[in-house]
Amino acid sequence: MDALRKNPDKIPGSTLYYCRLGKDGKLAPSGEPWCTICSKMTLDAGVSYFVLMKSEGYAAYATDEYNLLSFAYAG
Ligand SMILES: [Zn+2]
Repeated sequence: MDALRKNPDKIPGSTLYYCRLGKDGKLAPSGEPWCTICSKMTLDAGVSYFVLMKSEGYAAYATDEYNLLSFAYAG
C-alpha cells in the first residue's frame, strides 16, 4: 500500500517478497498461499510475482497463479 501511494509507476512488473516472523522475531517459513486479500490486491495492482519463504526453500508464483491458489485454499 505504501508503494502504491509513493511509487505507483514502479508497481507493474514488480516482485513482492512475503516474510513471516516467528515469536522469537526471526524469519519463519510461511505455509501455502491462503490470503485472498493479499493475493487479489497484488494481482490488481499489477505486481508480477509473489515470493514465499517456505521450509523447502523460496517459491515464486506469478500473481495470477498465486491468486488462484489462495482462493482454492480458502475454498
Ligand atoms: Zn493477506
